[in-house]
Amino acid sequence: MNESLPIYQSYIDGAFAAGDNLIEVFNPANGQLLGSVPETSLSDVERAIAAARAAQKGWARKPANERAGYLHRIASKVRDNAERLARIITAEQGKVLGLALVEVNFTADYLDYMAEWGRRLEGEILTSDRPGENIFVFRKPLGVIAGILPWNFPFFLIARKLAPALITGNTIVIKPSEETPINCFEFARLLAETDLPKGVVNIVSGRGATVGSALSSHSGVDMVNFTGSVATGSRIMAAAAGNITKLNLELGGKAPAIVLADADLGLAVSAITASRVINTGQVCNCAERVYVQRKVADQFIDQVSAAMAATRYGDPLAEDNLDMGPLINQAGLDKVAQMVKTAVNDGAQVITGGSVADRSGQGFHYQPTVLAGCQQAMEIMRHEIFGPVLPIQIIDDLDEGIALANDCEFGLTSSIYTKDLSSAMRACNELDFGETYINRENFEAMQGFHAGVRKSGIGGADGKHGVYEFTHTHVVYLQI
Ligand code: NAD
Repeated sequence: MNESLPIYQSYIDGAFAAGDNLIEVFNPANGQLLGSVPETSLSDVERAIAAARAAQKGWARKPANERAGYLHRIASKVRDNAERLARIITAEQGKVLGLALVEVNFTADYLDYMAEWGRRLEGEILTSDRPGENIFVFRKPLGVIAGILPWNFPFFLIARKLAPALITGNTIVIKPSEETPINCFEFARLLAETDLPKGVVNIVSGRGATVGSALSSHSGVDMVNFTGSVATGSRIMAAAAGNITKLNLELGGKAPAIVLADADLGLAVSAITASRVINTGQVCNCAERVYVQRKVADQFIDQVSAAMAATRYGDPLAEDNLDMGPLINQAGLDKVAQMVKTAVNDGAQVITGGSVADRSGQGFHYQPTVLAGCQQAMEIMRHEIFGPVLPIQIIDDLDEGIALANDCEFGLTSSIYTKDLSSAMRACNELDFGETYINRENFEAMQGFHAGVRKSGIGGADGKHGVYEFTHTHVVYLQI
């Protein structure tokens, strides 16, 4: 490999450790080699878990507000390096620079937000049935967390695992996706510049079947906190079963967007288009299927197709003013292309796009695509696409929209566009999802709770409920 390209090292017990086996990382927009990271050896994974274990009690003994100080200092390091980190994220993941910068700044804000929980963590005091007795409910850290990350918001996901883990007194071993590990090791470099006690955060890297599986099946891990696909979530459950390890799983989505005839159509078009274009459609909570009421269907399809067709895409580090970059890899591109082909064979009509983009073989680009005439039974309406493709089905009324939306193995997010309060309230009450967005784009707030039902996961992240996922209760009955 090119001598001048960086070779990253695992970050274990406050020190960097070289690996014998390396994984090369490429830019998905143009195939350029960016650097390499270790396939962390299983003995180093052991060392990382042991270091996290050794550091945990001392870390938990610090006042929570002192732990918060570390998070604030890490946040300010992230902010100081925002532009550089954004370029690294864009290079290895492919999102446009503006979005990468949003991701970095949101990550810093998230670290600060979670730090504020230092003064808000609460237990309970319960009344007892017995005279003179006090019952206390303590919230205690779980111990050692394994944070296993996906590639689509790789930098933010570091903070989504690390910040609530640390503020509640846990230590952590993080494994980034093998597609996007560089930003995580750049984060490790920033950590190493702070006074964070050694062993509190450890970063290993490598493939899921080796390093991910070693973390998930390890008896020294108290919770596996995973974001990624359903298939991997299921494998992690099986690996964790031997030790009955607690799991927090943030898995896939197939978010429905219901557009009723009384909707602000301009708003629906722009929010749903953005939802398919942002991060090239590779977002777990963004609209993956549209149910539009018949009366406005033609108008909606015309407008959304024009908006999708106007989407500018390309290599985000080489071209300006782009709306989206490439898909993450060849497998992602092949999957999207195959799903569109199958949908067309099953009777869907391509209104715009419909093909792999012609970019002289450079990068994994797919055309922004709108498919009309879709039906619920089609694969494209049931499976996660994770690409810039919008399948549309016509519905007669809200009853049909809600029934079709709920008829899905995923249950992460959903949205509805309507000006009618009773329709909006019916959606609140009858959509079986972890989140519903009414008349706005799909993007969660850090003070909310990002969690899915059905195969979209177990547990959730963010806000008060997300913080307490990293604790267990300890009930004490006191008689003096
Ligand atoms: P993935 O499941 O392929 O990989 C995620 C991580 O799991 C990687 O770090 C990988 O190395 C690791 N892994 C793979 N096999 C493993 C195993 N056997 N044991 C332990 N770890 C293993 O997912 P991806 O392709 O990186 O991410 C895309 C998926 O993530 C999509 O389905 C998307 O919907 C989902 N996602 C969900 C959320 C959410 O909040 N619900 C957020 C982002 C992404």
